[in-house]
Order: sequence, then structure tokens, then C-alpha cells
Amino acid sequence: MNNYIKTLITRMAMSNNIVLTEEHNKILDYAYRYYQKNKVGPLYYNFKKNLGITKTGINKLFPHGLYSIYNWVDIPIHSANFPCKAIPEIKVNDYRQVYLDYNATTFIRDEVKKVLNNYYSGNMGFGNPGSSTEPGRQAWELVNAAHEQLAQCLQVEPGEIVFTGCGTEANNLAIKGIALNHYPDKGHIITANTEHSSVLRTVQYLESVGYEISILNVDREGFVEPDDVARHIKKNTILVSIMAANNEIGTINPLPEIGKICKNAGVPFMVDAIQAFGRIPLNPKKLGISLLSISGHKIYGPKGVGALFVDKECVLVPLLHGGRQEGGLRSGTENVGHIIAMATAAKLITAEMNPESARLRELRDYFVDQIHCSIPDIIINGSLQHRLPHNISIGFPGIDSGSLLLGLNKIGVYVSSGSACSEGSQDTSHVLRAIGVDKLKYGAIRFSFGQQTTKDDLDYVLKYIPVLFHKLKKNYPGV
Ligand code: PLP
Repeated sequence: MNNYIKTLITRMAMSNNIVLTEEHNKILDYAYRYYQKNKVGPLYYNFKKNLGITKTGINKLFPHGLYSIYNWVDIPIHSANFPCKAIPEIKVNDYRQVYLDYNATTFIRDEVKKVLNNYYSGNMGFGNPGSSTEPGRQAWELVNAAHEQLAQCLQVEPGEIVFTGCGTEANNLAIKGIALNHYPDKGHIITANTEHSSVLRTVQYLESVGYEISILNVDREGFVEPDDVARHIKKNTILVSIMAANNEIGTINPLPEIGKICKNAGVPFMVDAIQAFGRIPLNPKKLGISLLSISGHKIYGPKGVGALFVDKECVLVPLLHGGRQEGGLRSGTENVGHIIAMATAAKLITAEMNPESARLRELRDYFVDQIHCSIPDIIINGSLQHRLPHNISIGFPGIDSGSLLLGLNKIGVYVSSGSACSEGSQDTSHVLRAIGVDKLKYGAIRFSFGQQTTKDDLDYVLKYIPVLFHKLKKNYPGV
């Protein structure tokens, strides 16, 4: 193990109040070596077979079982040794690469690359926006213009935009910012069980330090029921945080109804719009939204930059204190290049939203119809009607989604899976669980489309998915 991993283990153990024993070290060492050798992480049965340690034993030693082990020795959780079944191999004579994982991230579009190149080659203000030199003034103007551009996309005021280091930070700033503003009284926060981990783990943390949290259950299509929000609002409720659209199943929540309830109750409404921005119309002022988060890399901009709309009536305590940049809500010298790149990406995706969403919806519907024809007993996870135009999550009956994902990967098709075979799996999607998908019956795959997706790409996938599916069913039955 290198020093980085050793330090990581020490830090993780300390932050979880765990005193490392020989047993911990044996398990971590085995996991690390297994990953180095196989390029996939071990499962519970590997530990049992090779170290004689059961799943219960592991779960007693590590707070989140297998998930902790991966985290502590820096194994990507998605590299778990899935599938349980072998990966189906098929021959293709027309190989092509088809990226259908736009909900995970997008490429940087050419216009944005141009802005980045221009900035990093020093052609624009390289100075510190906080300095009174000429290069500093130029940089300040760039950041200022980015505020205006993004504000225009949302029809809000430039001063209501705060640029952050990523979408996760924007969500943390919104939720912890409100929570800290109510310290030491604390208070009650409402959210839902299909939210992204950057919301769920933030509220879980707040719960651990004394805030009261209500996590609403969604219905079978993944909707939060507005009446349920209304029922849970109490005198001490300080925030309602409900996402605009889900990253796995694409379901779009009834924002106008929830916004109205929050407004009437005088409770700030926070919306994680990281998947929805640029895909569906979003006007925070009309929707009764006080806080709304966006991320650069979901809209053909760079990774590592995000933004938060903060209604001017809303008071937040910053997470970072220092030079008081971004209206005092995000201290630290601005990441000028990424900020202007993100604003450009936001402007372009907003301008193109209507025709591009219609194009993607048509492609998506074609894709679903065709899969239905070749594999009639698939299920659609989430709502078909109120759904992001570029997303579809499909449950394939009786197969392991990990096998299908890796089979597709081998023929150049890149997608995400929401569940993996049962034994040892810790990363079964909380979203699929929340909408009641039986992972023992269905292997779920998320296909998400984008700017470079064409009908020819989809025809390639449609040609080979049934072949892979039937091969899996025949040779490796059972999820
Ligand atoms: N919220 C949602 C709904 C997301 O899909 C993601 C990213 O996958 C995030 C938050 C986190 O954004 P970032 O990757 O910019 O931190």
C-alpha cells in the first residue's frame, strides 16, 4: 500500500471513531491487493472464501460494510466485482462508440472549449478579480458578465447567483447555509428519499448534530406528493429541499405545487436542478423557489464548477469564510476560467433547450418503442409523462444489470446501471429501492442522451441489446 492509501485509512478510521485492529488491516489489505490485481473490487463472498470473514463480521467492523472498505482504500465503488454472472461476449462487425451516459456527465462543447482556451492562453483578464490592477479589473468584468449571463437564463438578478466549486457544494451551501442561520435553535428540514447523495448525506449530517429531518417517500413513479410536503411542514420547519428532476429515473417533481405550499408557509424552497437545468424551463421566481443549484459538467461545461441561485430575501451562512467573494457567500479567489465557461454553457443550453429537448424526446421515445418490440416485458422506471427528455431507465426482466452493462461496454456502448447482482452489492440504487423496483426481478439500466446522440447510434444499440439480453437469459439466468 502506498502512503496515500495508508493516510486515507488513518483519516477514515479517525473520522468514524474506529480504532484500527489487525482484523481491519487484514481486510483492507486484502481488498487493496485484490483491486490492484483484478482491477475490480472484491465482494463479500471473496472475503469469506479467502479470509474466512463473513458479511456480518465485516459489517460489524466497518460502518458501511463493503462500501466503507472501498472508500477507505480508494477503490471506485462502481468497480465492485459485478457481475456475479459472466460478461456475455458477442461479435459485432460494425463497432462504434456510443456514449449514452449524459446524466453522469457531458463532454465540453466546442464553444465552451474556445472560451476556456482563450482564457487559459492569457487572452482575457488573467488577474485576480479582487485586485485593482487592470488585469484584475478585466477578470472582475468577466465574472460580472458570467453572473449576468446565468441570471438571464433563470430570469433572476445577477446578484442572486453564487458560483461554487461544483453542484455538490451548491447543495451543501444551500442546506447548511440555511441550517447554520438557524443555529443554535436548529429546526426541521424536509426532503425526499430519491434526492442525490449531496442532499441526503448533508441532511443526515445535520441530523447527527441535532436538526430534525423528515425524509418523504416518493410514489411508484418517483414523485414527491405536494400534500405530503404540506402535511410535514411544522412551526419549526426551516427548509424544504426537493429536486427538480431525478438523476436516475428522470422523474420531474411538481415544483409549482410544492413552491406554492412553501411560499404560503413562509418556508424557503430549495431545488437541486442539476439534472433539470437546460432541459426543462425553470423560473425560480415564478415557481416559488428560494435556492436552486446547477452544475457545469451536466450542461457541456467543465467539471468542478457549479452555481447556486439564492433569492435576495434568503439569508444563508457561508461555508467558506475569507475574502467575501460572491456576495460574501463563497470566499476564495474566483475560478474565473471555469465560471465564464459555465456561464457560456448555460447560455447556449438555455437558448437551444426547446428544439434540442424535442429532438432528444423523439429519439428517446423511438428507442423505448423499439426495445419494447424486441423485449416486450421490460419495465420503465419512473414516469414516462413527466420525465427529463433525455433520460430513460429500463428494467430488463431476469438479468443482472451489471452483466448487461459490461456486455454493452465491450461493444462500445456506455451506460449506467442502477442495480447490481445481489450478493455483496452495497450500491443498489436508493432511487430504484424508493420506487419499489424488485432488483431480484429486474436489472436496471439508465440510458441518457445528448448533443452527439444520433438515430444511427441508437440503431446500433437496438441491434445488439436483444442479442446480449437473450444470451444473458439463456446462459446466465436470474438477476
Ligand atoms: N445533484 C444531482 C441531481 C446530480 O445528478 C449530481 C451529479 O451527478 C449532483 C447533485 C452533484 O453535482 P457535482 O458532480 O457537480 O458535484
